[in-house]
Amino acid sequence: MRKPLIAGNWKLHKTIPEALDLIEALKKDLADKTDIEIVVAPVFTALVPVAQAVKSSNIALAAQNCYCENSGAFTGEVSPALLKDAGCSHVIVGHSERRQLFGENDELINRKLKAVLAEDLIPIFCIGETLEEREKDEMMDVLKRQVTVGLNGLSETEMFKVVVAYEPVWAIGTGKVASTDQAQEAHAFVRGLLAGLFSTPVAEQVRILYGGSVKPDNVDGLMAQTDIDGTLVGGASLKAADFIRIARFE
Ligand code: PEP
Repeated sequence: MRKPLIAGNWKLHKTIPEALDLIEALKKDLADKTDIEIVVAPVFTALVPVAQAVKSSNIALAAQNCYCENSGAFTGEVSPALLKDAGCSHVIVGHSERRQLFGENDELINRKLKAVLAEDLIPIFCIGETLEEREKDEMMDVLKRQVTVGLNGLSETEMFKVVVAYEPVWAIGTGKVASTDQAQEAHAFVRGLLAGLFSTPVAEQVRILYGGSVKPDNVDGLMAQTDIDGTLVGGASLKAADFIRIARFE
């Protein structure tokens, strides 16, 4: 059985007081939700105060990015070891905004995944095709490349810790959610890739989240799909009521 995971990616939003307000609302209204994993990813500057606020709660803390080295002359970067020190248990790696706006490629993402796993943190590894790639019928080739290169060299034991997030780029922040059929098709394809690259137990146990305009009114249909094990939520994670409803999917 794969335990559902609902993650909120707060992106570049919320001051420390705003982040603490949101976390208090989530703690209050989601305290009973022990049947799922709940993760929030605030901006770097809010990680330490939010880590203190979620201590002994059922909410885990993720960073939105990291570098692939633990220390050295890498001005402006933050390492997995320091994220762990700040209280993170998860790190989002390879988000499409990192790939598109900051030039991250599959090889760098692979190095980041290894660095995150080396610190015993859980990577939330994002993949997904652009609209152009989908229209050119390249979705499967793109996903295959991202998964094969991104996960290259990971051991089976490491794979059991990885969470994959399928986020079609055309659905992120656009209000255009993938249909339940489109999402299920992509998730089943990715699971098949994991079986081929690793093993059937890995494919059966790795959680694959869907991300891309998840909202209270579409989460139930998505979560009803066989291969969708949770959601990575951007915009709707910024409002307590919306994120709470998403975490209470039916
Ligand atoms: C995201 O940032 O990963 C995301 C899916 O954003 P949104 O839910 O706003 O589309």
